[in-house]
Amino acid sequence: MPPTPPSPAGRAGHPHPFTPPPSVKSRIIAITGISGLISGAISMALGEYTSVRTQNEQLQVEIDTERDALTRNPEGEEAELSIMFESLGMHPSSTARDAASQVHANTEQALRVHLAHELGLSPDEKQSPRVAAIASLVSFSSVGAIIPVLPFLIGFGTLGWGLLFGGVGLLAAGFAAAKFTDRNPFASAGRQLLFGGIAVAATYGIGTLLGVSQLG
Ligand SMILES: [Zn+2]
Repeated sequence: MPPTPPSPAGRAGHPHPFTPPPSVKSRIIAITGISGLISGAISMALGEYTSVRTQNEQLQVEIDTERDALTRNPEGEEAELSIMFESLGMHPSSTARDAASQVHANTEQALRVHLAHELGLSPDEKQSPRVAAIASLVSFSSVGAIIPVLPFLIGFGTLGWGLLFGGVGLLAAGFAAAKFTDRNPFASAGRQLLFGGIAVAATYGIGTLLGVSQLG
């Protein structure tokens, strides 16, 4: 349906702030919702990319430091590993020394064992920042943020329908997330709804303080 354009003449002659008809209001909310969705998705994706990238760079620094130590002081590192094996319960100490010496026969292998035992890191654990960014872009834009805007796009947009759609979406997301953990799905759904509710209340409160309702 075509939007009802606000008439400048009617607006000028009216003493109260312009109140658009419901169809225009619904359109404004749909447009605001979609632009929020796009900007949110982009910032989520970029944030995710930067975060994973930084994590990988930090991991690389640890790998380089350990590799450097192994090159400069292989005997010291082997002795360190042998002591570590002993502290893990390898007895007698000659067994721990043999094990450390076998590990150190191969530098790459030694690097892995040192990283795993000293820092709890694995060089294979590098996530792809691009995959993380795309996953977060898709899940935010096409799954998360579109749900509360749907009623406004379909044409029965009211605050109540938006809240209902958003609430059902949050509960479903909480249930789905619990599939990958051993959490109670109801507790997970409840937590998701609570956190979403806090975000909605904060957004609504800020909008009210800024007088958004007068705009549409
Ligand atoms: Zn080491």
